[in-house]
This record gives sequence, C-alpha cells and structure tokens, in this order.
Amino acid sequence: MATPKKLSFDALVLGGGIAGLEAALNLAEQDFSVVVVEQDASIGGKMIRLSKVFPTLDCSSCITTPKMAAAAHHPQITILTYCELQTLKRQNGGLVAGIVQKPRYVDAEKCIGCRQCEYQCPVLVPDAEQGGLAARKAAYIPFSNAIPQTALIDTANCILCGRCAKICPTQAVDYFEQPGEFTLTAGAAVIATGFEMIPLKDKVQYGQGQIPNVITALQMERLLAPHGPYNRVLRPYDGMEPDNIAFIQCAGSRDQSLGLGYCSRVCCMYAVKEAMLLSGALPLADITVYYMDIRAFGKGYEQFYQTAQAMGVNFVKGKVAYLDPGENGAVKVRYESQDAAGGVQVAEHDLVVLSLGLVPAWDPQGRCVLSTAGDKFIKTVKPKTSPTLTDLEGVFVAGAAAGPKDIVDSIVEAGAAAMEASRYLTSVSSKQ
Ligand SMILES: Cc1cc2nc3c(=O)[nH]c(=O)nc-3n(C[C@H](O)[C@H](O)[C@H](O)COP(=O)(O)OP(=O)(O)OC[C@H]3O[C@@H](n4cnc5c(N)ncnc54)[C@H](O)[C@@H]3O)c2cc1C
Repeated sequence: MATPKKLSFDALVLGGGIAGLEAALNLAEQDFSVVVVEQDASIGGKMIRLSKVFPTLDCSSCITTPKMAAAAHHPQITILTYCELQTLKRQNGGLVAGIVQKPRYVDAEKCIGCRQCEYQCPVLVPDAEQGGLAARKAAYIPFSNAIPQTALIDTANCILCGRCAKICPTQAVDYFEQPGEFTLTAGAAVIATGFEMIPLKDKVQYGQGQIPNVITALQMERLLAPHGPYNRVLRPYDGMEPDNIAFIQCAGSRDQSLGLGYCSRVCCMYAVKEAMLLSGALPLADITVYYMDIRAFGKGYEQFYQTAQAMGVNFVKGKVAYLDPGENGAVKVRYESQDAAGGVQVAEHDLVVLSLGLVPAWDPQGRCVLSTAGDKFIKTVKPKTSPTLTDLEGVFVAGAAAGPKDIVDSIVEAGAAAMEASRYLTSVSSKQ
C-alpha cells in the first residue's frame, strides 16, 4: 500500500456521503486543503444508493454523481477511500488522526478500472450495493458510478483461482497486500459519518429477517432504481410481480424495547415517496402504508403526502404488532387498527417493506473523546445557536451523524459546519 503523498491538511472530513462531500467542497472553495476519509470503497454515502428523492422526485444518482466528481477533481481535495479512522486527538494545537488503509488486494496506483478482473472472476456473492438482491463478483468495482473506479477483491469469498491476476493488464492484483497505517494532521475536522438502518435481525416481531418477502426500505430503493437488480419491481422470494404491497412505519423507531425512543424523521417521507414510485411502476397494485402518525414536516412535504393519497395509496392508522409467513410467499400483517375498523386486524400482502429506524453509523468511543448524546448520535453542545459544534475543540458535525436528517437538512448543516470550521481555522491562524 502506498502512503498518501500529502499528510497534512487544513481540514479533515470523516465520511464521504452527501454531507461530507458538501462540507469538503465548501471548505475547498475557500481555498482550504481538505482530506475526505471514507470507510467504503467509494464515496457517495446512502444518497448514491437511492432511487429518486422526495419531495421533488429528482433522480438521486443524477444529483450525487456530479457532487462526487466535483470533490474528486477539486485540486484542494484529497479523497482516501477504504480507510478506517483509528484515533483522532488534539495535539500541539491541531488534530492528529491515525488511519488504517484496508487492503483492496489491487494496487490503486496501477488499477485502470477496466473491470477485466470482474469479468473473469467465476465467484458470485450477494451484492450489498443492491441490497443483497443481485449478485456481484469476488473481484469487483462497487458500482458503475463509484469513485474511485478502482477494483477490490473480497478475500472472504475469493477462491484464489488466479484468473484476475492473469488477465489484469497492469499487474495490479496483489493477493498479499497488507493493511497500511499512517497519520494525518489537520487544523479542524468535520464528522459526517451518517447513519445505518437498525438491523432487521433485531426485529423479533418482524421475523428477524427470516420471513420471505419482507424487505427493508433501502432494498425497495434498489428495486425502484433505474440501475437496480431486476430493472423492474419483483419480490425476491419467487420473482413474482407483487400486486399488494405494504409499508410498515416506525419499524424500530419510537420503540423503547429497542432503546430507540426517537423518531427517525425521514421514514414517513421516504415511504410516501416509495409508495408513489411503486404506483407508477405497478399501476394496478394495491399499496398500503401502516402508520402511527405521518410526519410531513418539511417544505412541500405535506403536499407530497396529499398527492400520494390522491394517487390512491391507502394509509391505515394502526400499529403493526407482528408479521407471519402466509401461503405462497404472502406475509400476514397483524395490527391494532386506530381507524374506523378498530381492534386487532389481520391483512395479507404479497410484499412487505419495513421503514426501519436509523442509528448512528459510527461510535467515537475508544477512538476519540467526542461525546455522544442519549440517542448515541454525536452530541452537539449548542444545538440551538451552533448546531454543528461538538465538545472537542476544532471538531464539527454535519448531516445524519448528529441525528436522523433528510438530504436538504444534511446539506444545509454541512454548509454550516464548513463555515464554523473555516472561522475556527482563520481564528487559530490569526493567533499564530
Ligand atoms: C430508505 C431511505 C430513503 C431515503 N430517501 C430520501 C429522500 O428521498 N430524500 C431525502 O431528503 N432523504 C432521504 N433519505 C435520507 C438520506 O439518505 C440522508 O439524509 C442522507 O443520506 C444523509 O447524508 P449523510 O452524508 O449525513 O450520511 P450518509 O449518507 O450515511 O453518509 C455517511 C458516509 O460516511 C461514511 N462513514 C461512516 N462511518 C465512517 C467512518 N468511521 N470512517 C469513514 N467513513 C465513515 C459512510 O460509509 C458513508 O459514506 C432516505 C433514507 C433512507 C434510509
């Protein structure tokens, strides 16, 4: 592994999702040098994996790809992918970050992104980028518009057949590559590590991921995406086109039994969006959303919800208690109705989509002295007046790392974090 050419920067941005990229671009435009450290093999975060975005229904990758490219080509921005932050501490008036570069088993300097290794690889494994609904090779580039276009080898599944090494035109494959360690220094940092959805295995009442045809909202995003696994909406269990689809809201959020007492903020709107997109993709299908309350809080969101109702999406007020497998891949939904029907009801659907709660993607404990709040997201010390300020000097937070957030709020917050970091860097340099 080659050590990065430059190791000292004005600012470090942890996380290359939409918030991290926006913060990096804002800082770079003010002529600060920025390093973006991303744990995945590509930048882009969750947004590059979405189909369309509420409330405008713009194509998500059409917005994200230019941002990714702008950051990658900016002369003031260095992007380090497939890297883990080990430690972040204050030292000599600045920040010092210990980074581990995970081995790709492909030399990033030599790889030209030709995908010959991928075409030759005989191994097929579930593709996490497609929600596990399609296959990828063991030697692969994460997705078509990934940045960088550098291959990697998944050694957990590689059978060491040697075909990738043999076909590679630049001899980039290196089965013996070791993790690399290096230290970065920066004057300020923006934490933009985003969120994950609560794992389905934690949802006992929804079959812990074992009931066929119960999928997550992120998997539905992939089914609806133009470059998704099947190019149409099919249920994973038997490839049938579903006629009757249900969304279950607050599947994990506002659930004290899982320690997630908070609202995940984006689930109502993404379920409304996915329901609308589904009625376009499957015009004859019945679509039901089981909800406790619909929280349509943003600009244009209430109108968006009303449009979904006008399109015929059926909104049922009721709390889903549990799911059971039905006949022929159907899913039985048992819920307590709060509508006119009242009482405990059972309905059957071809496909069920869980709007799972959002949890933080990163826990700073043991890596740096940043505090987290009661919900385990990064703590902001002045949430009203400086919502991006953390309790570690020179470190700011943006996007879903501070709590569940939609794209608009993540971008606005990234701009604010960049301004705070810029002001901090200027004040520190004027004192020296
Ligand atoms: C199913 C679904 C649909 C959605 N649809 C919409 C929509 O239509 N409109 C809308 O406005 N919002 C939508 N959202 C919300 C949207 O995804 C978020 O607002 C947005 O992704 C937040 O961006 P972010 O950069 O803060 O976090 P993320 O997108 O999570 O990006 C964080 C990045 O940080 C990286 N990272 C994490 N930990 C580390 C670490 N330790 N070191 C280095 N890198 C790290 C991650 O790999 C990732 O690349 C949806 C969410 C879901 C779940």
